[in-house]
Amino acid sequence: MRKAGGSHGARFVAIASLLLLVVLAFVDASVIHRQKREFVIPDWIEIVDEPVQAENSKTIQRAVRVRDAKVTYDGAQVWRVRSSEGQKDLLSNVTTDFQDTGLPSLWTRNDTTVDVMVRLEEIPRLSRYLKQKDLEYQVVIEDLQKAIDEENPSLSEQEMEELEGRKGHRMEWSSYHRLEDIHGYMDYLAETFPDVCSVVSIGNSVEGRPLKVIRISNGKANAPALWIDGGIHAREWISPAAVTYIINHLVENSEDLEADYYILPVANPDGYEYTFTRDRLWRKNRKRSVGSPCTGVDLNRNFGYRWGGLGTSKDPCREIYAGSGPFSEPETNAIRYFFEASAANFKAYLTFHSYGQYILYPWGYDKRVPPDYADLEMVGKQVAAAIKKAGGANSVYTVGNSATTLYAASGGSDDWAKAILKIKYAYTIELRDTGKYGFVLPARYITPTAKEALAAVMVVTEACKSL
Ligand SMILES: [Zn+2]
Repeated sequence: MRKAGGSHGARFVAIASLLLLVVLAFVDASVIHRQKREFVIPDWIEIVDEPVQAENSKTIQRAVRVRDAKVTYDGAQVWRVRSSEGQKDLLSNVTTDFQDTGLPSLWTRNDTTVDVMVRLEEIPRLSRYLKQKDLEYQVVIEDLQKAIDEENPSLSEQEMEELEGRKGHRMEWSSYHRLEDIHGYMDYLAETFPDVCSVVSIGNSVEGRPLKVIRISNGKANAPALWIDGGIHAREWISPAAVTYIINHLVENSEDLEADYYILPVANPDGYEYTFTRDRLWRKNRKRSVGSPCTGVDLNRNFGYRWGGLGTSKDPCREIYAGSGPFSEPETNAIRYFFEASAANFKAYLTFHSYGQYILYPWGYDKRVPPDYADLEMVGKQVAAAIKKAGGANSVYTVGNSATTLYAASGGSDDWAKAILKIKYAYTIELRDTGKYGFVLPARYITPTAKEALAAVMVVTEACKSL
């Protein structure tokens, strides 16, 4: 007994010291951890070395100043790189290089041209590199910061208040509006036209902003349903602007509606706001990645069909980072749950992007087409014709399969809608322009572009009716 007790005592001491060690290690780790954390400097603060002016002092004082809150693009340019016949593979390799390094930033591309944004300090190096490869380029935007400054002559606070007083909301289509105005407009419509509109939030973004969907319906029996979204890529401002214009038209002509519409005008609200407050050219959402200094997931690579395949990246620092898994992001997940819960008879899934003027159908994951692609091609061509009628001779939109017409990109919402939701007419529509302004499309083009988007919706509605 005694012996046993002695052994018990020894074991107790051993366990106790082990516990102590574990606790100490834990405390130690937490101290280290905390110390580490204390040295993390938020990206809006900059530590500057400043010489102290006082006499008898040669010490250097550390001063802290708040960094300019906005990313600027002074001296940056947008170039269009072209391949001649026989250079297509070369251009494709060069593009992959750009994508892998993130320098320069890729704006858009197809088989024969690539648009890139070049920062001032990179201009000589990129120019040398392209000459070395014997690739021609032209400067499309001379002064990107100037283009950004001139893009959205915003309404004054007084004009905004006047608008709100007169109309009950601040929405109009001569300028690009903040999220608050767009959501305010949707709530206004739901309150004012409760027989036709209702608004629900289908979830929240990473930073907690609501994902507001408006349902527009005049209650006709057996009406097909269409899904429309915009703004999944933050910097494509024309997309939410055009989609809200569509909302306006549908509500004002609600007695003629022959379908039910479910519309999410800003699918990436955090990114969208960030393009106003910090960086006009932000694309992704605002998810902070664990173990990486970089932020954001490309939401249009995050959907759960063929996730992580061609045209995506596993690196959180890349513009096409697909996230940690399919539907890892609250924004894409909210859309998925909405469709899982909805009993509506969805026949179309339209997602508006910019730029390039394309009407694209699946698949995006590879250069393949779904079995009924001929129907998608046919309706796509009708859409292109209607757009030309609405927008004029210059409003030429190219119709085609996503991966073939542009480039392969897996995890897109249209592929998921087509393959998993089995929605017949799934299209990604790239709105204006063809590259003169790119993402920085001046606000005076909102209305003409939105009319083209509306024409597309009307043609697809017709197609849905005859299914
Ligand atoms: Zn896009």
